[in-house]
Amino acid sequence: MTYTSPLPVTDGHFYEGSRLQIESLAMAYGEIEVLKDVTLTVEPATTTCVIGPSGSGKSTLLRGVNRLHEPKSGRVLLAEDDALRLKPDLLRRRVGLVFQHFNLFPDHTALQNVALALQNVKRMSKGEAERRALARLAEVGLAERADHRPRDLSGGQQQRVAIARALAMEPEVMLFDEATSALDPELVKGVLNLMAELAQSGMTMLVVTHEMGFARKVADQVVFMDEGRVIETGTPEQIFNSPQSERLRLFLSEVL
Ligand code: ADP
Ligand code: MG
Repeated sequence: MTYTSPLPVTDGHFYEGSRLQIESLAMAYGEIEVLKDVTLTVEPATTTCVIGPSGSGKSTLLRGVNRLHEPKSGRVLLAEDDALRLKPDLLRRRVGLVFQHFNLFPDHTALQNVALALQNVKRMSKGEAERRALARLAEVGLAERADHRPRDLSGGQQQRVAIARALAMEPEVMLFDEATSALDPELVKGVLNLMAELAQSGMTMLVVTHEMGFARKVADQVVFMDEGRVIETGTPEQIFNSPQSERLRLFLSEVL
C-alpha cells in the first residue's frame, strides 16, 4: 500500500512517504560477507536511525537498498515493489541518498546543481527545472545562495544543496550516510536541524549517524548494528536507556 502523508513543509510542498522493508538482507564484497540477515522496516513518514561501530556494515546496508552494490540475498520492498527487481535508475529516483561527501558539480551554481538533476532525470525544461530547484533551495534555507558555486559555500551549505538536489527528485524514502561527519563542528547543527525538519514534515528516512543526540531526539526507531548484523532494534528510549545486549552497552559507553 502506498502511504500518503500530507504534511506541509515551509513552502507548502507535500511529501509522500513509502514503507521500506528490508528482509534477511545479505551482502558481500567478493568472498567476504559483510551483511548477514539484516531485517528492518521503516514505516512511512517515520525516521529510523542506524548506529553502530565503524565497519559494522551501515554504509553497505544503504548501498544495498539503493543498489550501488547488489545484495547477495534477501528482499527489499519499497511500498509494494520489489526494489531488487526495479531498474536501478528508477529505484534511485524513488530513494534519495545523501553521502558524507556531497559530490556537487564544482563548476555549476547551487541552482544549476539542483536543476540539472531535474532536467536530466525528470526531463524537465530548463525553466521549469530552475523554478523547482529554487523552491527546493528555499526549503533548505539557501534561496539567497542559489547563484553561488560550491567553493563559495560552507560545507554545511554544500550539504544542504545536496539534500535539496535529492529532495528535488521527490523521493519516497531518503537515506543519509553520516551526512554531517565531514563537516566542521560548528556547521553540523544546521544540517541536523534541516534533517529533523524533514523528518517532521513526513519524509520517510533511514539515517546512518553517529550523532546520538539526533538519534535520541528525532528517531522513531533506532537500529544498532555490529559485525554485519542487527543486534537490537527499539525506540530511542529502549536503545539508549535500557540496552539489552552487552555489545550495545559497550558501544554506548564509548560514544556517549
Ligand atoms: P560502516 O559504514 O558501518 O563503517 P561499511 O559498510 O563501510 O561499515 O563496511 C562494512 C565492512 O565491509 C567493513 O569490514 C569494510 O572493511 C568492508 N568493506 C566496505 N566496503 C568495501 C569494499 N568496497 N570492498 C571490500 N570490503 C569493503
Ligand atoms: Mg559507513
